[in-house]
Amino acid sequence: MHRVVIVGGGFAGLHAARHLGHLDVSVTLIDTRNFHLFQPLLYQVATASLSPANIAAPLRTILKNQKNTTVLMGQVIDIDVEKREVVLEDARVPYDSLLLATGARHQYFGRDDWEKYAPGLKTIEDALNIRQRILTAFELAERETDPKAIERLLNFVIIGSGPTGVELAGALCEVSRQTLTREFRNIDPSKAHIIILERQNRVLPMYPDELSKNAGDTLRALGAELRPGVVVTDITKQGVEIEVNGGKEFIPTANVIWAAGVLASPMGKKLAEKTGAELDPAGRVKVDDHLHLPGHPEIFVLGDLAHCPGPKGTPLPAVAPVATQMGRYAAQVIEDQLANRTTPPFNYHDLGSMATIGRSNAVAQLPWFKLSGFLAWVAWLFIHLMNLIEFQNRVLVLMQWSWNYVTWRRAARLITEVPTIQCEHEKG
Ligand SMILES: Cc1cc2nc3c(=O)[nH]c(=O)nc-3n(C[C@H](O)[C@H](O)[C@H](O)COP(=O)(O)OP(=O)(O)OC[C@H]3O[C@@H](n4cnc5c(N)ncnc54)[C@H](O)[C@@H]3O)c2cc1C
Repeated sequence: MHRVVIVGGGFAGLHAARHLGHLDVSVTLIDTRNFHLFQPLLYQVATASLSPANIAAPLRTILKNQKNTTVLMGQVIDIDVEKREVVLEDARVPYDSLLLATGARHQYFGRDDWEKYAPGLKTIEDALNIRQRILTAFELAERETDPKAIERLLNFVIIGSGPTGVELAGALCEVSRQTLTREFRNIDPSKAHIIILERQNRVLPMYPDELSKNAGDTLRALGAELRPGVVVTDITKQGVEIEVNGGKEFIPTANVIWAAGVLASPMGKKLAEKTGAELDPAGRVKVDDHLHLPGHPEIFVLGDLAHCPGPKGTPLPAVAPVATQMGRYAAQVIEDQLANRTTPPFNYHDLGSMATIGRSNAVAQLPWFKLSGFLAWVAWLFIHLMNLIEFQNRVLVLMQWSWNYVTWRRAARLITEVPTIQCEHEKG
């Protein structure tokens, strides 16, 4: 039987596995985690709206009815291209077709030392870390007497104003202005200063002017400060140094969130070393028009790990619909190969993109029209709900959102561990 090995159970890997479920092939899905994560809602975990289990589902459960599919938890550390085996620390798994979909992480453009002070948002652990930092900052401020230290604790700086930065900022404004009011005695949480730093001259730079302006206006109305045209030059325990109009400025803060760059998973580099594959500056592997690693029709590279040019020649964006369509397409190519059919080149159907700002506003760039405001927000809610993998998660998230909407509360406000950086603040 034809052996298909899929590395990565994210959007690309999981959708490929599901499509292969009805074929006469043996499928092995390998992931370091035992769950599929719906990353677009991670910011809601980071801002205490949702719990981790609301946006994750066990891969085994999702694929339990696919008799031809085995799920293995483990980290793939190498690919033996000659022997056609993927290498785990303690095992080797042979393949006839290999689908690599190991996703991406954030990148700090050569300043990895900033990660300690400015965590990015990519995994459940990242989201919980950011949630603890945000909540701990308010707790420490409540106990602080020095006004300068309070100011530093209540300054929240988000670097990058793509969808993740904008969504985080909107949610943070609501946490400070609505959820936490009346709960503290010594500080006024609504005085928290939420600052978005953006290198380009507007927020959501990849969206049309009109939607970007709309998003900016909404964020300002919620209480955020937008700082476009700013270059971050340093991040330390004390705060963020920026360059603006040729001059330097320092923002004292204990809370920095990095939402500024994406770097493909190390699997890309590994493939390049093994096969001479070409990488783009974001570490993504350049693929051919059938999503193959050039010269290796048995290896597909999918999702955030792949550099695939779109109709305008620029690479397709690192978003869930691209990964999903790539996963399904690779499975279709395998099906066609086994039936001696040819498959036309991959053609991405752009379904548009959306970002939500606060609890009743969003912007949406759809194939035929643009939408903003309440209607866009309702569309955002519906689309995200329907794309959650498990029916149980859809129900739980819908209930949680409804409760949050009516009460302004955020149920998942637990601090289980004070982040190291804030322990250091306590020690002075
Ligand atoms: C905070 C955030 C918000 C986002 N919001 C949106 C949005 O609103 N709309 C949108 O369309 N997109 C959004 N995205 C982007 C979208 O989530 C990604 O484009 C999508 O997840 C990419 O899918 P993928 O399958 O390539 O990788 P992923 O979904 O990242 O999955 C990769 C999988 O590979 C596994 N893995 C990695 N390395 C190994 C290894 N060595 N061995 C075994 N397993 C491994 C990982 O554990 C993971 O399960 C967002 C992303 C983030 C981080």
